[in-house]
Formats: sequence, C-alpha cells, structure tokens
Amino acid sequence: MGEFWEELNEGSAEIDRQVGQMEDAGDGLTATISALVSVKDERVRQEMLRESGKFEATCADPTAMTDAERFAVLGEEFGEVAREVVEHGPEGSLRAELVQVAAVAVAWIEAIDATAEQGRL
Ligand SMILES: [Mg+2]
Repeated sequence: MGEFWEELNEGSAEIDRQVGQMEDAGDGLTATISALVSVKDERVRQEMLRESGKFEATCADPTAMTDAERFAVLGEEFGEVAREVVEHGPEGSLRAELVQVAAVAVAWIEAIDATAEQGRL
C-alpha cells in the first residue's frame, strides 16, 4: 500500500475513532455526527478517485483549480440535488447528492485553509 493510501486510511480511521468517542459521550449530536461521517467518507472517496486518476485534482487542492472551477463543481453537485428533488424526491439519491454538495464545500474550505496556512509560513 502506498503512502497516500496509508495516510488516507489512518486519517479516516482517526476521525472514526474520535466520532466513536463523541457517540460514547452521548452528547446528543448523533444525527449530526452521522451526517458528518458521511461527508468525511465522501471526501475520502473523492481523494481516492483523484489518486486513481479519474480526475487530476479535487477542490481541496490549493493550486490546481481556480475558485471559478470549484464553483462549477459545486454548481454541478447542486444541480444534481435539484434533479433529485424534481425527478425522484426523497426516495432517490437525495441524501447522497446532499452529502456530495457538503463534501465539495468542505474540500473548497480545505483549499482556503491550506492557502492561508502557506501564507503564514
Ligand atoms: Mg452529485
């Protein structure tokens, strides 16, 4: 297994471990945590697809995409939510499409944070 996959698996496992601790603490946020874990899993899937060559970059890459390109990706995902609402309703893939919208937004936030971090170095 390559370094990328090891780091991805370790990061994902660490998040799952911390989520488990939060759930054990019974903080009343189980539904929120469940949604956020789905978003994390989608971010992992996006990075796996990038690594496998399906696309050159994700919205998390601070240099490979412009904000206009990220906006296009987010808009496409938003459009897929709209299609689910209009054509399929809650019985279709609405939840999965909403998770994808959130994951693209998170990736974009990661790029902003990485750029800010580079500015502080
Ligand atoms: Mg989608």
